[in-house]
Amino acid sequence: MAEARELLRKYYGYPDFREGQKAVIASLLEGRDTLGIMPTGGGKSICYQIPALMMSGTTIVISPLISLMKDQVDGLDSIGVPAAYINSSLTYAQVETRIRKAARGEYKLLYVAPERLESERFLDLLGELTIPMVAVDEAHCVSQWGHDFRPSYMRISELVAHLPGRPQLAAFTATATDQVREDIVRHLKLEAPGVFVTGFARENLSFTVVKGENKRDVLTGYIRAHAGEAGIVYAATRKEVDQLCEFLKKQGVAAGKYHAGMTDKERAEAQEQFLYDEVRVMCASNAFGMGIDKSNVRYVIHFNMPKNMEAYYQEAGRAGRDGEPSDCLLLFSPQDILIQKFLIEQSVASPERQAQEYRRLQQMADYCHTPQCLQRYIVRYFGGELEQDCGQCSNCSSPDMEMTDITLEAQQIFSCVRRMRERFGVTLVASVLKGSRNKKVLDFGFDELSTYGLMKQRTEKEIVDLIQLLVAEGYLQLAEGKFPTVKLSSKAGAVLAGTERVVQRIRVKPAAAVVQDAETELFDELRKLRSEIAKREGIPPYIVFPDSTLREMC
Ligand code: ADP
Ligand code: MG
Repeated sequence: MAEARELLRKYYGYPDFREGQKAVIASLLEGRDTLGIMPTGGGKSICYQIPALMMSGTTIVISPLISLMKDQVDGLDSIGVPAAYINSSLTYAQVETRIRKAARGEYKLLYVAPERLESERFLDLLGELTIPMVAVDEAHCVSQWGHDFRPSYMRISELVAHLPGRPQLAAFTATATDQVREDIVRHLKLEAPGVFVTGFARENLSFTVVKGENKRDVLTGYIRAHAGEAGIVYAATRKEVDQLCEFLKKQGVAAGKYHAGMTDKERAEAQEQFLYDEVRVMCASNAFGMGIDKSNVRYVIHFNMPKNMEAYYQEAGRAGRDGEPSDCLLLFSPQDILIQKFLIEQSVASPERQAQEYRRLQQMADYCHTPQCLQRYIVRYFGGELEQDCGQCSNCSSPDMEMTDITLEAQQIFSCVRRMRERFGVTLVASVLKGSRNKKVLDFGFDELSTYGLMKQRTEKEIVDLIQLLVAEGYLQLAEGKFPTVKLSSKAGAVLAGTERVVQRIRVKPAAAVVQDAETELFDELRKLRSEIAKREGIPPYIVFPDSTLREMC
């Protein structure tokens, strides 16, 4: 690694690797196939460029966009790393020249468009090179489940098979769903790959979810309190973007707008105005942001919940690119779920895909409801882990949140799920834990199990909430189907075995509310007593004690 670091300094001028880069590069230098999952901007390029510099021969880089390819090669040129690209913008003669140069070992990296791999002749040409490694950028393009499937990516494994001596494989993406990850490993035929998910935590971002409040009030309140700062407000539909922009302008805010319904010229102008701070607040649909690189965006507000966590984090992540503290607010209402469901129905035809999209939507909604640290939820979603809570999101900084050990309850729930053979839904599991003897409990023959009433001190609603919490935390899974059944995940095993504890951030009532609840309860009790005495004595209750006296007694 010391040599790698030396090269990083020499060529790129950076003092050290980022945390995630270290692990990926070390794995590649050990000779393993490696899959690196890092967010956009996480620094994936260096992960294969530095190992390429250390290997003899020419590393092939598969990259999906002609413009990206040229940028990368220009960048490498400027720091003195010999590289070239081959894509459809070149004449055949140019391609041949570059291949010949590569065969002479004149390039450390050769960027190749995936479409080139369709040609057998081209694969033969590549066979003449010394190729120690094939690096696949934007590797999610190999998956139909990703957002931009490229059939030519399926040819990559053929290229690898075609080359003399199997080169090492490196694959990179920012898309982290399990399905995409599995597809990458399978279709690229990665062999026992090291998989590294890193860099999804963004320490300078404070996440907040706002629920049950008037969105426009929250929005104007926030923007007023942050006058002079640049921010983006994302909304789900063009109409909403138009309306929000008008609304903000009426409030005296220098607002602009950006969505796919505007002309190219209008959009370019809007983008320009925002980049040069003529417009402070950009109201935008998800069309905004692909190409923008504005480092001093101080906040990103989602006026509607987006369709999934990938979309949310990509958009929210446009805040604070300069590393300065910045805010990400999500204004949630149940209506947002309906909007997104509708949009999914409109845009996704296959029922299988729809089910997949609904599941991701559910995970987005879970984010809005989790009592856990929001940053932790995000990092876990992308397959990583946070060492400690972020301490600054709306859940971490809420005074009515408390850490509670719920290992015992979790064990009770897990053992009940197991005894019910993991074949039933949340409601029935909760009924049995409660000790209920309702019709369903009896029909399915759980009357005996139910007599234990393992959690009878809790309400069924509380038990359901707990189960849902354990699902969100990955201890339990909801199997798909018309009636989702609760299943144990591998994490639950350790808890049942007593080797792992479950500590949860639980929303507790503020002390004042607890006292008030107790007083109300006592008052009700006293009234009951009073009416018993009144009945026995045959006199009206207020003669026994007036309400005011009862209140004083509390
Ligand atoms: P990705 O492909 O993951 O989106 P890039 O490879 O384009 O990210 O890198 C994003 C930015 O981060 C680039 O400007 C790059 O120079 C910078 N960068 C990468 N690694 C480091 C590092 N170790 N230290 C500082 N900056 C880095
Ligand atoms: Mg990249």
